[in-house]
Amino acid sequence: MRTSQYSHQYIDEKDISSVIDVLKSDWLTTGPKVPEFEDAFANDVNAKYAVAVSSGTAALHTAMFALGISPGDEVIVPAMTFAATANSVVFQGGTPVFCDVDSDTLLIDPVKAARSVSPRTRAVIAVDYTGHPCDYESLEQVAEFNDITSVSDACHSLGGKYKGRKVGSLAKLNIFSFHPVKHITTGEGGMITTDDEALAKRMRIFRNHGINSSFQQRKQKASWFYEMTTLGFNYRITDFQCALGLSQLKKLPGLISRRQEIAKRYDEAFADSPHINGLGVNPEVSHAYHLYVVKLNLEGLTKDRTEIFRNLTRKGVRVNVHYIPVHLHPFYRMNFNTGPGLCPVAEEAYERIISLPLSHNMSDPDVEYIIKTVNRVVDSSGG
Ligand SMILES: *Cc1c(COP(=O)(O)O)cnc(C)c1O
Repeated sequence: MRTSQYSHQYIDEKDISSVIDVLKSDWLTTGPKVPEFEDAFANDVNAKYAVAVSSGTAALHTAMFALGISPGDEVIVPAMTFAATANSVVFQGGTPVFCDVDSDTLLIDPVKAARSVSPRTRAVIAVDYTGHPCDYESLEQVAEFNDITSVSDACHSLGGKYKGRKVGSLAKLNIFSFHPVKHITTGEGGMITTDDEALAKRMRIFRNHGINSSFQQRKQKASWFYEMTTLGFNYRITDFQCALGLSQLKKLPGLISRRQEIAKRYDEAFADSPHINGLGVNPEVSHAYHLYVVKLNLEGLTKDRTEIFRNLTRKGVRVNVHYIPVHLHPFYRMNFNTGPGLCPVAEEAYERIISLPLSHNMSDPDVEYIIKTVNRVVDSSGG
């Protein structure tokens, strides 16, 4: 069964032929498909500029560079996220300051974020964990009051909305990933959206070795001349990846609505379960459902999460756990003196969360099989 993965990409014939077209063209990388994808993406999320790069992690790093994060600077990040969110701060020599999350949504808590601000704080990265957009109004107030920049790690939430506004236009810089588990894929790939022209320009230079003119510009001018003005990386994305991204982007509304449909079915199915609690969803958002995470009510169970996880996997329901709180990883414990007790809400949630399979190509019978199996496995461990 395809449901055995917690997520799965969707590639159709149109995607394949759009990639083949590029493979037969003159440009494999940094050709016309890159700005075409950027423009379509910016347009889709209501942002002025979009900068495409080689991964979501590269996008985060590029954003931290554009903000000028450097040694001594602090950036507030939620404990409940993928390690790359915090790592991007470290790439620039900055210090991630881990902020605890709200116990109902597991999203960064704006009140706790405000309390984490110090004279060295430069930015806050909000993560739209599971696809639920954060409380950007409160976060923007915190950012404005403290003169810091709001960044949105929207790797889970493409297609989501907050108070009618689209994800991708909610923070100064907005980060996306096109890894195959995400809503749309380019194999590997990422994007940053912003309304700030100067930041967009800095990011385009950074992704291309710190060189201040594009290959196309030089070709037009028939000139060999270029200048490296800053230390950048090769974070470029290829033209055939952007062709895939363009083709995938057209399918986004359909992919999101199917995910929302499956999530609704899960909501209904577990609403009365004494052992399973869904995460909170704020009424002002449209949830993009990258993940469907449930919390086990361990107090009423005789088995722990590990055992339930194993039993589900054995029955073909390939669940996952998102995430091990980042501050518990040995790298952060050793280098930033973090550890248990720093973010108790995230740590407590971590012991009980399970991500159920969720991908748009799951059939209704797949969904029902998962529900039945989850209820059986969990109820059989009921005390
Ligand atoms: C996937 C993801 C990333 C990293 O994206 P890659 O494209 O895999 O580098 C960063 N942050 C979050 C929250 C993610 O889910």
